[in-house]
Amino acid sequence: MTYQAEYLWIDGTEPTREIRGKTKILADGEEPGIWGYDGSSTNQATGDNSDVVLNPVFSCPDPIRGGDNILVMCETLLTGDMSPHPTNTRAAARAALEMYSSMDPWFGMEQEYTMLDPVTGWPAGFPENGYPRPQGPYYCGVGAVRITGRDIVEEHMQLCIAAGLKISGVNAEVMPGQWEFQIGPAGTVEVGDHLWLARYLLYRLGEKYGVEISLEAKPMKGDWNGAGMHTNFSTQAMREGYDAVVAAAESMGAEGKPAEHLTGYGVGIEERLTGEHETQRYDQFSYGVSDRGASIRIPWQVEQEKKGYIEDRRPNANADPYVVATLITNTVCSAAS
Ligand code: ADP
Ligand code: MN
Ligand code: MN
Ligand code: MN
Repeated sequence: MTYQAEYLWIDGTEPTREIRGKTKILADGEEPGIWGYDGSSTNQATGDNSDVVLNPVFSCPDPIRGGDNILVMCETLLTGDMSPHPTNTRAAARAALEMYSSMDPWFGMEQEYTMLDPVTGWPAGFPENGYPRPQGPYYCGVGAVRITGRDIVEEHMQLCIAAGLKISGVNAEVMPGQWEFQIGPAGTVEVGDHLWLARYLLYRLGEKYGVEISLEAKPMKGDWNGAGMHTNFSTQAMREGYDAVVAAAESMGAEGKPAEHLTGYGVGIEERLTGEHETQRYDQFSYGVSDRGASIRIPWQVEQEKKGYIEDRRPNANADPYVVATLITNTVCSAAS
């Protein structure tokens, strides 16, 4: 007897990386081992030296195929010395976690996305050649006209649960056709593994239903919310006391840090972080309690309980979670040590 392993990895597509996958049939009892692929087709190698190595690092049940079949997240390595491929952003997340594991960093990422008609490119729920009623009734809305695509959202949530991913919730967003799911709390490396696999499952449902799942940061220009990936973060010390929470917010605003972080927060950040639509401007840094117009929000409950976490509202929906988690772990934990 055999089973199927879907090998998944992050490609070298510029400016926004995508997940890729291919299937390997394995004999029962056989572990998924090292494999490879044609890196010249994924912007990760030249044709004359095209092999890139796949190193399995995380696996879970494949909820689409079911049975004993699995999803296998891989790191990309160079042939030769088997060092991380330059596009392998997970390696840096591993290094950050290794350095600061004693602080026990946790992440919760809120992945927003937009369902698009693959032919017109228009968001689901937008009338043909026109616009729906202005934003207001859609966020966490209920009912026809307000809501499009819930079947996909519901099925996606069930797939994530069946795969054992740390999904913590879903909701309809401010713009019609826009939705969110959250992954966390999870560690610096784990949050990226689980988020990328949750994206994969969502894209697969997009294939099934003929809907394009877009992580574009500002899919509709004008008076429509963009799509972000708010990133909630805590260390053990922050979960125990408020001084560490404030210190974390301060460290994110230290000289040079805001600009450094924005380089890893996804494509089109200036278009989304305008100071409107629940954002702070990309060229300003601020933090505040309950402030959805700040770069960093301290949730009101955290202020009440004098412990908890901070929310970095800046990352775009199209950011690489490994990169975001690496930046925040390094910035907050190095300032705290
Ligand atoms: P919002 O109120 O901004 O919409 P959400 O409820 O969508 O927030 O997402 C909050 C995320 O933060 C969830 O994924 C949750 O698991 C995560 N979270 C909760 N507590 C912590 C913590 N102490 N550290 C890191 N992440 C946390
Ligand atoms: Mn949310
Ligand atoms: Mn949201
Ligand atoms: Mn949020």
